[in-house]
Amino acid sequence: MVGGVNSPVRSFKAVGGHPRFASRAKGSRVWDVDGKEYIDYLGSWGPLILGHAAPQVVAAIRETAKRGTSYGAPTELEIRFARLIQEAFPSMELIRLVNSGTEAAMSALRLARGFTGRDFIVKFEGCYHGHADSVLTKAGSGPLTLGVPNSAGVPAATATQTLTIPFNDVGALEALMKARGQEIAAVIVEPVAGNCGVIPPEPDFLPALRQLTTRSGALLLLDEVITGFRVAHGGAQALYGIQPDITCLGKIIGGGLPMGVYGGRRDIMTQVAPLGSVYQAGTLSGNPITVAAGVATLETLKGRDWYNQLENLGAQLEGELSNAAEETGIPATVNRVGSMFCCFFTEGPVRDLASAQRSDTKRYAQYFHAMLEQGINLSPSQFEAGFISTAHTQDDIARTGLAARTALKSLPVSRPKGRRKKTR
Ligand code: PMP
Repeated sequence: MVGGVNSPVRSFKAVGGHPRFASRAKGSRVWDVDGKEYIDYLGSWGPLILGHAAPQVVAAIRETAKRGTSYGAPTELEIRFARLIQEAFPSMELIRLVNSGTEAAMSALRLARGFTGRDFIVKFEGCYHGHADSVLTKAGSGPLTLGVPNSAGVPAATATQTLTIPFNDVGALEALMKARGQEIAAVIVEPVAGNCGVIPPEPDFLPALRQLTTRSGALLLLDEVITGFRVAHGGAQALYGIQPDITCLGKIIGGGLPMGVYGGRRDIMTQVAPLGSVYQAGTLSGNPITVAAGVATLETLKGRDWYNQLENLGAQLEGELSNAAEETGIPATVNRVGSMFCCFFTEGPVRDLASAQRSDTKRYAQYFHAMLEQGINLSPSQFEAGFISTAHTQDDIARTGLAARTALKSLPVSRPKGRRKKTR
């Protein structure tokens, strides 16, 4: 296997050493093949909001598999699933199930181009929308961590049709839309940037996106692959009150199995085959096992207000990490939205890719290894989000805080203790 991993972000290239091989997981814990136990904040990179091996999800997979794993024909289960999505995301009037976040974003962009008859798209520096050609420009996540934000192998003609500007920069967007608004099919954005650490939108950012796209006839495409069912039941669009034209979902909606969804305004979505002329298909799309895991997850999330609990755990962890940094004199900025968090090793504020990149990644690598040794599993990159699940407890968070103090105390202090700013 290339680099020993089947997705580049799993490698320890950025922090040194070799990844721990996972053998099993339950709730907030994961165990490696040597039997060492970790409190897990990867959550399989976001999907596992109910924790590992949630009993209702495992039972749904088991029961469904007995009746067949895939039919290549529609099922009632897909209707139940679609209703659960639409209840939470009313802007998704018609939807299409796919197999990953990459597919959702790639298909949504093709649709935006087909619908508007325009070729250009706008994305924000440090945002990641999967690995399709047109979004591997100034991309976050693995491309950023591994130093290939503009991937080789993307045709120059494709890359030039993707225009990039800084996240949270309303002025840059205004200027771009004024100059080229009539050529732009879609503006795609992670409403909370989650692939260069965690960066919340400033209050005027998403409203400006909505206004400027509407004015130029471009579509607003919210990539809620991370934020959907994560920052609120109805995602960032509910949290910030923003109405997109198209939404992409992934991660949580598959309950830990491969799944993506794109959907939006009826007049746009009816352009997708078989109703319209924008082609997109999938042999295993909407397969019953994945959909059953998704239904079990979404029904559980609908059952009560988990988001209050996740907010409280998130606030506790933010406090623990901030205090640990303060006490040890290590410059750090903790950014957090609900149960997504990131501790940047810089004074901050961190509000875009440039400020995220001021973070001391060598220090992050030392911190990461010191935490891992103490049984705390974080992402092996400064430029990723950590995730809390409903299976995490206050005790887990307190233990993580203690580990962070020990980890930070073991790091060399290179600068005098300064005032740390927090951003939200
Ligand atoms: N969009 C966003 C915002 C993501 O975070 C990711 C993956 N981390 C993707 C799209 C791509 O999803 P997948 O890895 O399922 O293809």
